[in-house]
Amino acid sequence: MAGQIDRRRVDKHAKLLADTGDLGREPVYQELLCVVQQPTSTVPPSDWKGLTGRGQVEPRSAAAAGRDFPYTAGTTCYIEVHEDGRVTHGDSRAAYERDVAGTSRLFAVWPGQWSSDLFLIDDSDEYAKSHGIKHDQVRTGLSEHVHDVAWTEETAFSTNPRSPYISICLTMKCGCEIRNLDAFAKQMREQQGWNVATSVGWGSSSGPEGTTYSLRVRRKGLGA
Ligand SMILES: [Zn+2]
Repeated sequence: MAGQIDRRRVDKHAKLLADTGDLGREPVYQELLCVVQQPTSTVPPSDWKGLTGRGQVEPRSAAAAGRDFPYTAGTTCYIEVHEDGRVTHGDSRAAYERDVAGTSRLFAVWPGQWSSDLFLIDDSDEYAKSHGIKHDQVRTGLSEHVHDVAWTEETAFSTNPRSPYISICLTMKCGCEIRNLDAFAKQMREQQGWNVATSVGWGSSSGPEGTTYSLRVRRKGLGA
């Protein structure tokens, strides 16, 4: 009986996963539903033990979910199982290195609408790319090359002349796109000594000549 309940919940979640419309769920929406779901966790301990016995369910595959897996969602809970059996969570980079070295295995709970399933993080590469541990051309829009950029100082905004930062209009002549400012800032710091402000607003506008980005960059290092 208990096993049947468990299977039904899993099937329902499987259907939700199969429905692509459900894959882009808003984390906030999930959280609200999780609150409503609270009563399901009040199963008496004796029944719960029965579930772990006969109704054992293997973790699902994060790799099978591909890019839809919510690697960086705030509601995704990672669990690291070390080879000595210790269970920890946190520190994505160290966990990734241990996972690749084979000294631990990473799991994650993906909160669903009706139940939350356990996933095995079996695509370490995708995990690393989503957390910025490895460069990801698709997510960032940026190739791993020395970018060819053109820029002009944006003088329309009267900024504080004593500010070490200036506003610039930038175009990517190399054909890259800035989808992730942190990744672009990191590359430009390494390649050309730029210091791009990542904690302030930035924008882009597209026209017949391509996309122009509005960024704040430290004057020193720009050669301006
Ligand atoms: Zn480029």
